[in-house]
Amino acid sequence: NNLRQNVRRQRTRANRVRGNKMDVATEEKVMDPRTKTIVFKMLNSGVLREIHGVVSAGKEANVYHAVTGDYEGIESNVECAIKIFKTSMNEFKNRAEYLEGDYRFKNKKSQHNTRKLIKLWAEKETRNLKRMRSAGIQCPEPILLRENILIMSFIGRDGFPAPRLRDVEVDTQVWKGIYHSVIKTMRKMYHQCKLVHADLSEYNLMYRKRVLWVIDVAQAVDLDHPLALDFLKKDCVSMATFFNKKGVQSTMSPRRLFDFVV
Ligand code: ATP
Ligand code: MN
Repeated sequence: NNLRQNVRRQRTRANRVRGNKMDVATEEKVMDPRTKTIVFKMLNSGVLREIHGVVSAGKEANVYHAVTGDYEGIESNVECAIKIFKTSMNEFKNRAEYLEGDYRFKNKKSQHNTRKLIKLWAEKETRNLKRMRSAGIQCPEPILLRENILIMSFIGRDGFPAPRLRDVEVDTQVWKGIYHSVIKTMRKMYHQCKLVHADLSEYNLMYRKRVLWVIDVAQAVDLDHPLALDFLKKDCVSMATFFNKKGVQSTMSPRRLFDFVV
């Protein structure tokens, strides 16, 4: 009887969650106390002038739109994106291999403490972005990193983020051009940055004013990673599938794309 009651209670709860997406979204925007404190300090110290709404509420991270304040070493009064890696996340533990195989993070003991692990993810994204910027790849510029909070330049304008490739509507000729930017970027990432994105998809590429932007590189690995080429294969499948679907005639097969990139 007790069990049945329990099952029923859980069902109602599941229905409620599904039936009220707003509540879910709002709940997810809540930061844990330590994160809140750090963000509050950022506002007080002038790192940030204002924090606006949520640009994206995801499983692993929330991204907010904000404006920088007056603070030594950072440009003041510019739009920025704050990516807050969630500390409640079990997801990250499943992705330990992305850290373990990367020589930059391999021997860090902190991998076993969740909060420190998430901090490593934020650090990894920051370092990857820096490598990419040095190679001239269009990606957000890291502005400030504190624990699980990464402030970076905002891709977009007036609080509107640039559309992801997923949401872009252009004709086939333009898709062809974007395709060429993508493969050029993949090669640059591989040869100049010695990185494989490892989550490349139409959700992690943005397009604005004819420029392609690469985002979401926390999971990107160094070529030394034992699985780097497997991750690259996956990226090639994802890109080949996408541009095929967009009708780009010259789309290479995943295999050819892989060979071309390496
Ligand atoms: P999750 O997987 O939990 O959704 P994520 O790890 O995919 O989070 P990102 O892909 O880095 O996080 O960012 C999520 C979304 O936030 C992006 O799709 C993009 O729309 C927006 N975004 C991220 N970074 C920026 C930025 N620098 N400028 C503007 N928008 C951004
Ligand atoms: Mn993403």
